[in-house]
Amino acid sequence: MTNLFNKFYKKTRDERLSILLSEHYLDDEDYCLFKTNSPLDNDVANSLIENQLTQFPLPLGVALNFLIDGEEKIIPMVVEEPSVIAACSNAAKLARPNGFKTSIETYLKRGQIILTGVTNPNDAEKLILSQFDKIKEVADKAHPSIIKRGGGLKEITCDIFESENDNDTFLTVYLLIDVQKAMGANIINTILEGVTPFIVDLVGGEALMSILSNYNTESLVTSTCSIPFNKLGNQTTSGKDIAQRIEKATQYANLDTYRAVTHNKGIMNGVDSVVIATGNDPRAVSAAAHAYASKNGAYQSMTEWHVQDEYLVGKLTLPMSIGSVGGAISVLPMAQANLNMMSISTSEELARIIVSVGLAQNLAALKALVSDGIQKGHMTLHASSLAIQVGATGDEIELVTEKLRQSPHMNTQTATDILNQLRQ
Ligand code: NDP
Repeated sequence: MTNLFNKFYKKTRDERLSILLSEHYLDDEDYCLFKTNSPLDNDVANSLIENQLTQFPLPLGVALNFLIDGEEKIIPMVVEEPSVIAACSNAAKLARPNGFKTSIETYLKRGQIILTGVTNPNDAEKLILSQFDKIKEVADKAHPSIIKRGGGLKEITCDIFESENDNDTFLTVYLLIDVQKAMGANIINTILEGVTPFIVDLVGGEALMSILSNYNTESLVTSTCSIPFNKLGNQTTSGKDIAQRIEKATQYANLDTYRAVTHNKGIMNGVDSVVIATGNDPRAVSAAAHAYASKNGAYQSMTEWHVQDEYLVGKLTLPMSIGSVGGAISVLPMAQANLNMMSISTSEELARIIVSVGLAQNLAALKALVSDGIQKGHMTLHASSLAIQVGATGDEIELVTEKLRQSPHMNTQTATDILNQLRQ
């Protein structure tokens, strides 16, 4: 990252955009899109949802300092919470020079066909598994284009569930599918609906439903980082002490759901901001992430932090349910521009970035919490929102913000008083 990015937050919006253009993070077309604050074409907005009335703008900014698998990344984030991007960029700086290292073992998505009334579920399971080749043939015919792209059905497993209430037995057939660059909800659902009649013919019973599962445990994406103690210390506390406190804070989040939820919400600040910026579905990602946080039978920290030699070592693994094509991603020009900014060409690449951002966000929050407390940084960044809330406009915003930051009590009354004094 060149020196042009120094004190990026102090530059004007125009200066920031010019730097992104000159450094080739934006091409001419994307630069114009950003510069003009182009709204979504009304036809596009109207075709995306029902009863569309207008659009709902949110700020889009960039997190800096990320080095992910040896590549410099500038990361677009759509978020309304003032401290998120600053905190994320700071944590990414701490993680240098090694940056974030990511890994993915498998990258398949899961669909489920839920059957009821199957006479002998155990025999039915064996029969289904023995017919993999025939089921694959049906699946391939249901969605030929994904086969041409190198994807399609890869594996079948089954599970049997007994209902406690009415002694009903469910036989669930799981299809593990390679959806290539897509998030895959529609691809999977199309394949499932193609395969379901064949399975019902094969084993009898009735299909209760056929739908993808958003719990993508075959698309686990891991990011790790290690921070030397000397980067963590401040005037009052040593880096080693802060590292040990971060380790302890994570252990605590594993014990207390009240803490774990807030701990993980901070991670999702980063994750969701990138998911939204790239036209992906934050509900799908969040649902899977929170379920994975409960994989040990209790809701716990999504991250692991521990002290090792002279380092604080962090790790985040999340099931990733995202795409780099399809759905709204291919329709929203801003999502395309944001993918271009990160040079994304596959959904795995995007997943690696999202999980690294989540890890960085957690580091930033924990470091603040176990040292200065979170409010110092939060309220400083919240000051400009307060200024706007009380009616400051144009140059007044910066002037009120500056004075608010120096005030002992940062609240709407103080902001109003400052604005009134300014206008006298
Ligand atoms: P799409 O239905 O848009 O399918 C993917 C599209 O991308 C296809 O048109 C495909 O073309 C095209 N494509 C181009 N290149 C590739 C490539 N390399 N790999 C894969 N596809 C490619 O999207 P998804 O199936 O991903 O479904 C996502 C949408 O479904 C999201 O909007 C989501 O919100 C929604 N949804 C979510 C649900 C959930 O999460 N539970 C449930 C239902 C819907 P081609 O057709 O030629 O293959």
